[in-house]
Amino acid sequence: TVVPEVKDTSPEKLLAPVLSAFWDEDRSWSLDVYRRHGGYEGLRKALAMSPDDLIAYVKESGLRGRGGAGFPTGMKWQFIPQGDGKPHYLVVNADESEPGTCKDIPLLFANPHSLVEGIVIACYAIRSSHAFIYLRGEVVPVLRRLHEAVREAYAAGYLGENILGSGLDLELTVHAGAGAYICGEETALLDSLEGRRGQPRLRPPFPAVEGLYACPTVVNNVESIASVPAILKNGKDWFRSMGSEKSPGFTLYSLSGHVASPGQYEAPLGITLRQLLDMSGGMRAGHRLKFWTPGGSSTPMFTDEHLDVPLDYEGVGAAGSMLGTKALQCFDETTCVVRAVTRWTEFYAHESCGKCTPCREGTYWLVQLLRDIEAGKGVMSDLDKLGDIADNINGKSFCALGDGAASPIFSSLKYFREEYEQHITGRGCPFDPAKSTAWA
Ligand code: NAD
Ligand code: SF4
Repeated sequence: TVVPEVKDTSPEKLLAPVLSAFWDEDRSWSLDVYRRHGGYEGLRKALAMSPDDLIAYVKESGLRGRGGAGFPTGMKWQFIPQGDGKPHYLVVNADESEPGTCKDIPLLFANPHSLVEGIVIACYAIRSSHAFIYLRGEVVPVLRRLHEAVREAYAAGYLGENILGSGLDLELTVHAGAGAYICGEETALLDSLEGRRGQPRLRPPFPAVEGLYACPTVVNNVESIASVPAILKNGKDWFRSMGSEKSPGFTLYSLSGHVASPGQYEAPLGITLRQLLDMSGGMRAGHRLKFWTPGGSSTPMFTDEHLDVPLDYEGVGAAGSMLGTKALQCFDETTCVVRAVTRWTEFYAHESCGKCTPCREGTYWLVQLLRDIEAGKGVMSDLDKLGDIADNINGKSFCALGDGAASPIFSSLKYFREEYEQHITGRGCPFDPAKSTAWA
């Protein structure tokens, strides 16, 4: 198991450290350190409000889901029907697996109590007495740390019965998944949590109506919930003072690839990749940016023309991609686009759950064509075939995995069609893989 190194969080490296403010402190993950930095103050403020006022407050803060889709968090909480006589659940999606995405796992490793506190606040708001964390199973040290944080929170009265004398009772269960990318899809996650094979369910009904054990359920990403205590503690106006009008606040970006200093960088939404590269030391010495992903490989790739696109939902959307998980994978001029897209597509084909035909069959055929092109055995008509297969997957699959698999095909053909053609006319790859470290 590889646990990512916790990034240097010195002020000159980060513009707005909130979640990562004390990651480099000794025992940053402990309750003592968390409380020393104002931990669980947000919970006290939340418990002084009514649940409805609390939901309205989070809505007004403008917090949007950090798992990729950017759905307004407060609105999701508001969907939970009240007075329906059914149990309500909060399920935290900690099954982080999008290629290049590495923010929730370091956050849990360095500061798990921000999530635990956020969970208690969210459960009070949606009137839930049982929450679950579904963690990516491979990260065993993070699982242990999370268990320890939960144990500390129970012992201190932040979990269990009558929390801080408020009358709120809450059980928190930590569950480790078994390493399937599809279990990060919220309904597959719920099936897996219920003990079934993880495959997506038809939506609607959305989990807010029929989720875990067919009861109203909020499924939120780790970073979304972990951001809530700081909003309560510092106020919604403070949160809104960062980022942009429609995408307010701070967030964690995962910077990786051919950069001088990869890692997690916390900054306001709306920052640009150029600014992040300036802060972090830029591309590796002597090389220039060729292409990059704004939110993992499922989001259409960008080129060096997009360095000044604001990294918020609207800015990235207007430029033809999606913000997604804010996984900024940067590749320099030594990287073969065909090779990179082939590796990503192999990943999607491997992780396709097989439930629907366009994704199950389409990803298989994409891999065959790409491998042929990469090996110099392709023909020109393969390029139209690639686009055609991707078109038959995109928007015609059962869940977002299919769309994600089609994404790098479309965008690489759009920006780098000539490079595909070079592989075909030159009967092989014009790049020297030994010069690129990204795929070593
Ligand atoms: P989505 O837009 O369909 O839904 C987003 C959230 O809003 C869901 O929780 C959904 O239940 C809720 N929602 C949407 N419409 C609703 C409605 N009418 N009523 C009630 N609730 C509603 O997105 P998705 O398919 O859940 O997720 C796709 C995203 O996942 C992509 O943007 C991608 O970036 C991201 N992703 C993340 C990872 C990771 O590792 N974090 C991995 C793969 C994909
Ligand atoms: Fe499964 Fe792929 Fe269909 Fe999603 S799109 S349900 S992962 S086969």
